[in-house]
Amino acid sequence: MSTVHRNYVDGEWVESRSGDTFEVLNPANTGDVVGEFQSSTSEDAEAAIDAAVATQDEWATTPGPERGAILTETAQLLDERKDELTETLTREEGKTLDEAGGEVQRAIDIFRYYGEKARDLGGTVKSPGGTDTELYTKREPLGTVSLITPWNYPIAIPAWKLAPALAAGNTAVLKPASAAPTVSWKLFEALDEAGLPDGVANYVTGSGSEVGRPLTDHEDVDAVSFTGSTAVGTAVAQAAADDLKRVQCEMGGKNPTVVMPSADVDQAVDIVGAGAFGVTGQACTACSRAIVHEDVYDEFVAGIADYAESIEIGPGLENPDMGPHVTSSELESTLEYVDVADDEGATLETGGQRLTGDEYDDGYYVEPAVFSDVTGDMRIATEEVFGPVLAVLKVESFEEAVAVANDVEYGLSASIVTQDLTEANRFADRVESGVAKVNEKTTGLELHVPFGGYKQSSTDTYREQGDAGLDFFTSTKTVYMN
Ligand code: NAP
Repeated sequence: MSTVHRNYVDGEWVESRSGDTFEVLNPANTGDVVGEFQSSTSEDAEAAIDAAVATQDEWATTPGPERGAILTETAQLLDERKDELTETLTREEGKTLDEAGGEVQRAIDIFRYYGEKARDLGGTVKSPGGTDTELYTKREPLGTVSLITPWNYPIAIPAWKLAPALAAGNTAVLKPASAAPTVSWKLFEALDEAGLPDGVANYVTGSGSEVGRPLTDHEDVDAVSFTGSTAVGTAVAQAAADDLKRVQCEMGGKNPTVVMPSADVDQAVDIVGAGAFGVTGQACTACSRAIVHEDVYDEFVAGIADYAESIEIGPGLENPDMGPHVTSSELESTLEYVDVADDEGATLETGGQRLTGDEYDDGYYVEPAVFSDVTGDMRIATEEVFGPVLAVLKVESFEEAVAVANDVEYGLSASIVTQDLTEANRFADRVESGVAKVNEKTTGLELHVPFGGYKQSSTDTYREQGDAGLDFFTSTKTVYMN
């Protein structure tokens, strides 16, 4: 018997009006049902919005240190449950225990960080000398916000939306992705135990089209923060635009790592390999294009193929190098891209096959794939795959490398491997990407600096994380005090 998880609305654990539930399966072993969740209706989502609106003024006027103390206590409870949360995340999403443990730690750190931030939300005094008027600015919460999150970081992304939203005095409704809602359910359990007042944060599961609609177009929702695919994000931004809600959509990527002749090729292989195949390639910042100078191209291709072949694949709970895909449809999508790349004439150096046999039959496993001879016009070089598939492109110069890196509709994270400081600076200046890294993998983010994309990767007006997280969830008021 699997556990039935209820929605969390107005401080109560409640069933959906639909009376239906859906199952979440362990992608490493589909016979293992991780839990059942409410197939909520739009009325369930509206009730959650009503609860959030009803308590909005009270939470906004709760002193920042009191709000912060609840976030800090939540972090403490998550910390005490770190092993359990890590195992749950691995069971529902497929990450290895090391990867899941890192993500849970990030969620804990985020709650601690914004717990402190709630004490001092910023604002400045700008008094002109010699006048009777004192001028100052203050941050104010927006009101009630909708948070819609993807499955690939099922606790870190809810944390990096919820914590700044609540720290700033907003009330919230969170809809997690249907593929991996368990670990964020446990986050709400911790918020409840930490003493969050009823209605301040609400949790509703269910299909994106049903639950997502009121969350994006309800007149009482003041802002929408979405992370997910560019296709859904575009629809969310359009729905929210109808009554000029503040909206933030963080979306897909087609992230490049450029490898220049001055690079240590072994280091470049490690950087690209970790960026491309870590978390099974299921990161918005995953490296999916290696753009390699012709002088080191052959050596790099041989090295990265060896790297991919050395990856140990298995159930995340056994903590191998790489776990399965999250769902059968994600696995199918990756396998389709392998076929597409084959048809387009790219050379499959290694991998790309579904893993079968006793050990693998019950899960969604695929070998990491490396394609060489990829050209910039191929779909494998331009579309987000969201699996462990790397396209390697050959270039003749730094100028060409930057042009190829920029020649996609996405712009989330980009890196270069080089020992040439001038080249490194020019790359950071010219790459069209919200994150630019030198001699580092495209994945991996610090929580205190802004994160977001250019072009189709983001709505781009607001960033997430650090103070940027508070910028999205607050308005600035200027006060003239005579
Ligand atoms: P997705 O299919 O776009 O879903 C994201 C969320 O939106 C889910 O909660 C989904 O619910 C919900 N949703 C679906 N249709 C909706 C609608 N019509 N209205 C409102 N909400 C709706 O994305 P995903 O497959 O979960 O995640 C993978 C994608 O996220 C990739 O493209 C990846 O690059 C991107 N991502 C971006 C970042 C970033 O910071 N830029 C970070 C992580 C992931 P259901 O699950 O119920 O369908």
